[in-house]
Amino acid sequence: MSTQETRTRIVWDYAPAPESPDHVRLRDSYGLFVNGEFADPKDGTRVPSISPSTEEPVAEVAFAGPEDVRGAIAAARAAQPGWAALSGLERGKYLFRVARLIQERAREMAVVESMDGGKPIRESRDVDVPLAAAHFFHYAGWADKLSYGLAGREAAPLGVAAQIVPWNFPLLMAAWKLAPALACGNTAVLKPAETTPLSALLLAEICQEAELPPGVVQVLPGDGATGAALVRADGIDKVAFTGSTAVGKDIQAALAGTGTSLTLELGGKSANVVFEDAALDQAVEGIVNGIFFNQGHVCCAGSRLLIQESVADVVIGKLWERMGRLRVGDPLDKNTDVGAINSAEQLERIEALVAAGEEEGALRRTVACELPERGWWFAPTIFTEVAPAHRIAVEEIFGPVVSVMTFRTQAEAIEKANNSTYGLAAGIWTDKGSKAFEVASALEAGVVWQNTYNKFDPTAAFGGYKESGFGREGGPAGLRPYVRLS
Ligand code: NAD
Repeated sequence: MSTQETRTRIVWDYAPAPESPDHVRLRDSYGLFVNGEFADPKDGTRVPSISPSTEEPVAEVAFAGPEDVRGAIAAARAAQPGWAALSGLERGKYLFRVARLIQERAREMAVVESMDGGKPIRESRDVDVPLAAAHFFHYAGWADKLSYGLAGREAAPLGVAAQIVPWNFPLLMAAWKLAPALACGNTAVLKPAETTPLSALLLAEICQEAELPPGVVQVLPGDGATGAALVRADGIDKVAFTGSTAVGKDIQAALAGTGTSLTLELGGKSANVVFEDAALDQAVEGIVNGIFFNQGHVCCAGSRLLIQESVADVVIGKLWERMGRLRVGDPLDKNTDVGAINSAEQLERIEALVAAGEEEGALRRTVACELPERGWWFAPTIFTEVAPAHRIAVEEIFGPVVSVMTFRTQAEAIEKANNSTYGLAAGIWTDKGSKAFEVASALEAGVVWQNTYNKFDPTAAFGGYKESGFGREGGPAGLRPYVRLS
């Protein structure tokens, strides 16, 4: 056998490369973080937080009841004048310290994020945790320069911010919310999502280690009932919500006429548009990152793939081939590309929408791969022959499922991309700068990426149009929702 033959006959596989959870310092049970201390819930309950990849409990967590919510708001209110009275420079030092402590505990936080939420360690280690630290660094820098970030206007904090985050980026969303609020002199009550409370509780420990004054940050795990009680409670000056459009609308209705400031970061059905003059191999990598990053549990996922007809077959062929090489499985394995679906409920939602896609006549292809026996999993899936009215082209699937449509002209691409009730993000793949700018300015999307996708940076504003919400997070624009301008 020649060397050449030997080479082609060898089937290479990856050896398991699990990240060890041994260094993780999780407690068996967590209380509510109020006034700088972990305390038992007064009228809340305790529930286990379940790992979606093993279905085993990771730790037990207290869920806050209405009395706990009132107590947390009282603590935040009592601490707010003192926090606002500190100079911006001093507040910035605290935020800087939080950022450094996140970096020091980065490995542990990444493992906890993957155990609790199911995302691959590669992502929690390289994206979620470093970006969370970067947000605290960024807003530490703004704390003593607020008027520079607000077009020279003097600003006063709003007061107490109620902040509710979803389960897809638990630590990162907490950082997006807390860092600008604190920089501006507000205090906060943060409610993490019911399925992923643990990294926010580690962040609470970090607030203790950073000697943040008691009451500046409270962390109240809980479910929708806790969130509903929080936004309706007296003593809140600001609500910042990231989550589904349905709950966002409910909160907006509850706050109408109360004078409470509100920002909503909601769902999306973002278009990723590939023109025939794009670097196609690069585009395929961007498509993969756009929809399979974090199992597609991404508000701005490029879930509607629009390909110019002349290159559609080539792109779909390359994409399908690339999808076959994605590694699905243990989130703690460093080779894993696609981890576990966050909950049994979310898996059901994905399965129902995928079934609807088949019933409505789209062509489904799902990668054949071995899935672990325990846990919740969904293999990467592509739908072609999708019509714009199909549910899979309209509704947010929030899973590793991409719906492909084609277009012939630039005008048609823009029309199809904008044919959505959402307006969160979009991607454009083209070699022509002028085309990219022209298309970007015509797209109704808060963020438009050119020749890349899912790139996040603390200096850049992020937020939506239409049913994707309003208000911006990130960069100097992210200060505005947390201040009253004089
Ligand atoms: P969700 O709306 O069900 O829950 C989000 C948070 O709201 C959770 O903490 C939940 O406990 C809480 N909540 C639930 N019901 C509530 C109520 N009635 N009142 C107050 N709070 C309530 O959303 P989800 O399923 O956790 O997250 C997925 C959604 O979040 C997707 O639609 C996704 O697009 C969106 N999202 C948006 C962004 C963005 O920046 N635009 C970022 C991440 C996720």
